[in-house]
Amino acid sequence: MIRVRDLVVRFGEVVAVDGVSFDVAEGELYVLLGSSGCGKTTTLRAVGGFERPDAGEIALGGEIVSGGPFVPPERRGAGFVFQDYALFPHLTVAENVGFGIRDRAERARRVSALLELVDLADCAERRPHALSGGQQQRVALARAVAPRPRVLLLDEPFGNLDAALRGVVRQRTLSFLRGEGCTLLLVTHDQGEALAVADRVAVMRAGRVEQSGTPEALYNEPNSAFVAEFLGRTNILEADAHGEVAQTALGELALTEAARGAVVLSLRPHQITLVPGGEGIVTTREFLGHAVRLSVRHGDLELVVLGPPDTPFIAGDAVRPRASAPAVPLPPRR
Ligand code: ATP
Repeated sequence: MIRVRDLVVRFGEVVAVDGVSFDVAEGELYVLLGSSGCGKTTTLRAVGGFERPDAGEIALGGEIVSGGPFVPPERRGAGFVFQDYALFPHLTVAENVGFGIRDRAERARRVSALLELVDLADCAERRPHALSGGQQQRVALARAVAPRPRVLLLDEPFGNLDAALRGVVRQRTLSFLRGEGCTLLLVTHDQGEALAVADRVAVMRAGRVEQSGTPEALYNEPNSAFVAEFLGRTNILEADAHGEVAQTALGELALTEAARGAVVLSLRPHQITLVPGGEGIVTTREFLGHAVRLSVRHGDLELVVLGPPDTPFIAGDAVRPRASAPAVPLPPRR
């Protein structure tokens, strides 16, 4: 449904997007994940038709919309939720949401269903200025969804909601949109959000896609230390690999795949277990309820270890860290 090939967008000297390619299947939820300035918003805006690419091609539903004859945003059949919500200030919440619904008979029913969905049924008659930032964001979301776009482009659509509301609104809205068969391209800098909701994720860095795949594949089989660290806490160890094993400061570790020579290894905090006595010293302990997180100093290494809730170790204890799973070998850092 969305095809992007070798996309380049420049702003003067700045190359915001530097050769990005990806495909999104019909009904799929694809996430562009990256830190501020990596080019994800510019990519999304180019798909929407709000930036004219310097090179590359974009097709929506098989029709070329950039890179051939340029199709303007209003003729791309896509809905948008951008970071500035751009609500109509003189219209009520219900009128904003109903604006794009052509079928008059359906309008009232769909508006009230969408306001229920985003938890704003009580605010239908208010105007945007009388809403909080998070409420405005939810109106923008409902308004974008209302005309049943075939593709919906979402830029940090849940970014302004407080933690308690975010999970609920996010899950409800995304399952509703999936039920409608909408193809979703979502931009976020929140790795937890990307892993939780995406069918597939593209991790972006400096205008390029560093790696793409399912959340599980990216988390378990990162292809660089950058991706491994971006997708959640991990321990990066320098190592000398000899096939299926490698020598490290923690001794010989098994590898997920064969490697040779100088590599770095990624070992997630839950893949390290501690036994009493040894060269490691617990420096901090945090009780998280479902787990205990410890920092362990081991020579020059500062390890993060996640243990079960009944983990007995406290700061000052001497421990020996052991890998409980094979480590992922990665190329040395660039
Ligand atoms: P954020 O999450 O902070 O929005 P992002 O990953 O979405 O970041 P972009 O907004 O795509 O990043 O910006 C990519 C780069 O292009 C940045 O260096 C940014 O400063 C630059 N840039 C974006 N828009 C413009 C513009 N209109 N004019 C000049 N430079 C721009």
